[in-house]
Amino acid sequence: MDTVIPLWQPPSLAVAGSAARFPVRRIYCVGRNYAAHTREMGGDPARESPFFFMKPADALVPDGGHVPYPPATANLHHEVELVAAIGTGGADIAPERALDHVYGYAVGIDLTRRDLQQVAKDRSWPWGAAKAFDHGAPCGDLQPAAAIGHPAKGAIALKVDGELRQQGDLADMIWPLPEILAALSRLFELVPGDLVYTGTPAGVGPIRPGERLDAEVEGVGTLGVTVGEAE
Ligand code: MN
Repeated sequence: MDTVIPLWQPPSLAVAGSAARFPVRRIYCVGRNYAAHTREMGGDPARESPFFFMKPADALVPDGGHVPYPPATANLHHEVELVAAIGTGGADIAPERALDHVYGYAVGIDLTRRDLQQVAKDRSWPWGAAKAFDHGAPCGDLQPAAAIGHPAKGAIALKVDGELRQQGDLADMIWPLPEILAALSRLFELVPGDLVYTGTPAGVGPIRPGERLDAEVEGVGTLGVTVGEAE
């Protein structure tokens, strides 16, 4: 294709055990999917229906990467999440078939400008400025489901400079992954390359410039990133 501006490479994730990479198309995120986190944010964890927001694919930061402290916030928060990577697309996917569409899993961090999110909530504005900023989607190497299976339980945790801040269990999701994918695919046709961040357990909190984040999901892997000084 001849292009009038330089064509970019698609963002991609490393795949454990493979020299080939996983190209990333779109990033969907689930809000309030663990009861304890929903309560800490002042919400009601009653099962209404899952809701979704997005981040751009080029917000990805790999394992070992660096996140410049973002502009326009004084309250950047960490949210450790299990990430599912879609290998086979589909619309209106049945929960019983949903996991067949997942290529693999990774550990992700849904970075959030919490102060901008509060403004958005107060004014009924969209969450884009709070969630979809540059470098806002750290994500570790992808582990193929063919190798690790489909994790439905196991510890999920995040440390800041070695201190445990978030701790939960995948089994505590309000909406387990098959139901998330079913609900999401009723809104959008999923395509290969899509990522789904599945929500965070309790313990979210502020990151200070210069700190290091270490996230882990049992049976999936780890993700470590450093956060830069504010500019
Ligand atoms: Mn989140």
